[in-house]
This record gives sequence, C-alpha cells and structure tokens, in this order.
Amino acid sequence: MTLSHNRFRSMHWFTAVFLAALALTTVVRLWLSRRHIGHVSANRNAVPAEFEGRIALAAHQKAADYTAAKTQLGMLETLAGAALLWGFTLGGGLQLLSDVWERIFEAGGYAHGIALIVSVAIVSSVIDLPFALYRTFVIEARFGFNRTSLALFFADLAKQAALGALLLVPLVFCFLWLMARMGAMWWLYAWATWVAFSLVVQFLYPTVFVRWFNKFTPLEDAGLRSRIEGLLTKCGFRSRGLFVMDGSKRSSHGNAYFTGFGAAKRIVLFDTLVSRLAPPEIVAVLAHELGHFSLRHVWKRMGLAFGASLAILWLLGWLIGQDWFYAALGVRSHSAAMALVLFFIVVPVFTFLLHPLASLYSRLHEFEADAYAARHAEAGDLVRALVKLYEDNAATLTPDPLHSAFYDSHPPAMLRISRLQTQQT
Ligand SMILES: [Zn+2]
Repeated sequence: MTLSHNRFRSMHWFTAVFLAALALTTVVRLWLSRRHIGHVSANRNAVPAEFEGRIALAAHQKAADYTAAKTQLGMLETLAGAALLWGFTLGGGLQLLSDVWERIFEAGGYAHGIALIVSVAIVSSVIDLPFALYRTFVIEARFGFNRTSLALFFADLAKQAALGALLLVPLVFCFLWLMARMGAMWWLYAWATWVAFSLVVQFLYPTVFVRWFNKFTPLEDAGLRSRIEGLLTKCGFRSRGLFVMDGSKRSSHGNAYFTGFGAAKRIVLFDTLVSRLAPPEIVAVLAHELGHFSLRHVWKRMGLAFGASLAILWLLGWLIGQDWFYAALGVRSHSAAMALVLFFIVVPVFTFLLHPLASLYSRLHEFEADAYAARHAEAGDLVRALVKLYEDNAATLTPDPLHSAFYDSHPPAMLRISRLQTQQT
C-alpha cells in the first residue's frame, strides 16, 4: 500500500480538484436519476387527480416505464462519459493520440492540431454510438415511437459527421491561427470569431442544413392556414410562409418552431403535430412559440451564452500558460490544440452545478410564453394540446421535483397546466 500512498501524496492539487469534481458530478447525476426513477415508479399506479379523465391509466403507466427506461440508459451514459473523460486525461488518451499524430504531422502544427481534435471528436462519437442505437432501436421502438430504419439512421449519422466536419474544422483552424498570431489577447479575437460563427450557424441551420435531413411542404389546409394568419395578425407578425416538415420519417414525437430573422419568419409545423392536434390547439401551440419570439427569449439566451463564453475563453487564455494545467490532467505535450481540447472536455465537470440555474431561466421563459399564448389564443386550447402532447410523447406527469429542478427546460406538467387554467378567459 506504500506505493499508492506515495502516489496520493505526490498528486498535484489540481488533479485532486479535477477528480473530486468528476466524482461529484457523476454521483450527483446518478443520484438524481435514481430519485427520478423512484419517484416516477412510486406514482405509476395512479393518474394525478388533475389529469383524471383526460389521461388513461395505461398511458400514464407507459409514460412511467418509458421515463424509467430512458433514465436507466442515461445512467449508463453518465458512467461511460466519466470513464471516457478519465481515459482521455489521466488515463493518457489525449497524450497517446497526440503522440500517434506526431509520427505523421509536425508537432504543434495546424495539421497535427486539427487531427488531434478531430480524432477526439471521433472517439467520443464512437463511444456514443451504441447508446444512440439502443435508444432508437430498443427504447423508442419498444414504446412505439421509432420510425427510423437502420439505413436512415446511418445516413443521418454520415450527414451529421459531414456537417460537423464542415463546421468544426474551419472553426478549429481559426482558433489555432488566432492563438498562434494574436498574442496574449487571442482569446478576445477567438470570442469574436465564436460569436460570428454562432450567428452564422443560427441562421444557416434552420434555413439550409435542415434541408439535408427533412422535407418541407407548404401547409395546404386552408382552414388551418387562415386561423394561423388570424393569429399572426393579432400578434403583429409577418411570416414568409407556413410549412409542414416530415418529422414522422424518423419519430412520432411532434413539435412546432419558427425560423428566420427579423420580420420574415418561416413557421414550421411537424406533420405529426398537424395530424394529432385540432386546429385551435395548433394555433395555441403556435401562440406559445410566437411568445418566445415576441419576448425575445432567443436573443436573451444567446446574450447570456455569449457572456459565458467570453468568461470561459478568458479563463482558457490564462490556463494555457500554466504548466500545471497540462501536467495535472495527464498531458506532457503543450500545444494550442492540446490546451483547447483538454479545456473543453474538462470544463463541463466544473460547470455542471450551474445546470439548475440555466434550467430555471428556461422554465421562466416557458411560463412567460404560456402567458403570452393565453393572452393571444385560448388557454384552454393550449391545455388540451399539452395534455395530448404529454400523452403522445409519454412524458411523465410526475417527475422527481429535484431532478426536474436540475434538468427540465420546461416546467412540470401539473404546474404548467394549473397556471394556464388560472389564465383562462
Ligand atoms: Zn416553449
């Protein structure tokens, strides 16, 4: 035992901090999942009084089983993620990848840096793959949601990889170039690049890239169209078109969203939503989405994200010059690319405990959007739509309160619906 004792004593303080944060994050995640499964199972045999007569016991039990299955898989993913992070850092994985690429490319050069970062992304995706396959073809299939074939799944994966490469490689190159050329303030230029890049992706994703995955057709139902146009006029919105997206190609989960900037917005409804909800309910769901736009939720969230990324890049700008940062995380090679990849895989361990704040902020926006919908459409229609969506998506009505506070971007069903009922006119 002397050996491990000595090893512990010689451990760098930052190694100890990192391991403690990794252990804490992993344990909290697993604990929240256990609580969630326990709470959902304990409430499995009775539909909450608020939903009695609106959701059948069988649907409620299906939601409980679906939630438990997804959460259990999530626990395995948490463990795999922690093991992978340890493997990359103290396990020597990043150093090994760097050494391998040094045999082909000049150490510290652009090609070496990009190869290192791309290979880390590939290893992470390969570890994720069995989980994604299990989720889609076992869990989603068992509960009747999956409509993807293996061929479509892998075609999507190839397209996502191509899209990832198209976006990631130029961005990484820009960062490495700025780090090499811009001196001590490189992080500020990197931040400006990141902001510009995010805005371009925000614009291109829904207008261009999404067409690689889905087809859009103009909404044909004239009755529904005139109802939606009535809502838009009432809210003072102009739209560049109403479209239906073939979401049913992959899954029976439904959704609606807006894309575009300024006055010219496209409104997109999933075909699954159109086929399942009555026209007034669709209008109420759209009124909620319009609320997010009208109350500038997207811009507020982006502003916060940009502020956070400025702080994070400033921190990286400082850490990159600290020898202990590399040594304490199991890395000998100091290079710009190594600092980037090391930093970005380690940061989530330290920001995990901020999750509840981000979730709370998002839930406040959901309440605001619901209130907007209640003002511009019928609250009762939104309630009916939500009940159908909860049922169709087998979303649990009885989440564990702590799990929900930590992760949920949307308020729990009961809270959301009871608040809407007080706003009913
Ligand atoms: Zn919303």
